[in-house]
Amino acid sequence: MTSPLEPVYALALGAHPDDVELACGATLLKIIDEGERVAVCDLTAGEMGTLGTAETRRNEAMLACERMGYVNREMLDLGDSELLHTKENLHEIIRIIRKYRPQTVFCNPPEERHPDHMKASKLVFDACYYAGLRKIETIDNGRPQSAHRPRHLLYYIQFKQIEPDIIVDVSSTFKRSRSGITAFGSQFYRETESDQPITMINRKEFLPGLEARSRSLGEQIGAMYGEGFLLSSALGIGRFTGVFPPES
Ligand SMILES: [Zn+2]
Repeated sequence: MTSPLEPVYALALGAHPDDVELACGATLLKIIDEGERVAVCDLTAGEMGTLGTAETRRNEAMLACERMGYVNREMLDLGDSELLHTKENLHEIIRIIRKYRPQTVFCNPPEERHPDHMKASKLVFDACYYAGLRKIETIDNGRPQSAHRPRHLLYYIQFKQIEPDIIVDVSSTFKRSRSGITAFGSQFYRETESDQPITMINRKEFLPGLEARSRSLGEQIGAMYGEGFLLSSALGIGRFTGVFPPES
């Protein structure tokens, strides 16, 4: 494993452990397959969730990290269900961005069912900008950090059926991405524990429903599976045929 302190290509942040794997895990695997480094940061331990404790969710998050092949995973403690837009929370996210120095950041979408997702979205959007301001001082491991602004910020899609700006062909990684999701064993349907409380995501139908959405998104681009994203700014195209390839 290379040092987590070398810059990564992509940093994926989520309000809760499993947000990232559920919404963009197959895309992260695709980026890793393309030879780039990926790190993940959970803003909270998800301690207010109906199922699992902070400790089980931490262990599950680390198992997902291992299975997915991220260079590192951070779990902050910014307050599940209290993810407020405070200076302290903003600076914690700026610290993580400056530590990993990503070119591309993924985060929760601005419009969502869970208020924490929307709050995380705004915090990460703001942190990406402010991380580039030299006069905002942050310290990591006792050392002052230098400014860094990611070039791209993409919002993944969660519960709300938002029309994506782009769809990534994840046919080659979708099945593998399931191992990252199932690492969060406390959160999903288990045959053996039929007396556990029912949540939105531990219903038997949830994971097949997620697959159906990826199939539907894939269908829109002539692929088996797709993951959709919203762009935070216009997509600049350098090599035209790289984005709109000629018939092969
Ligand atoms: Zn969540």
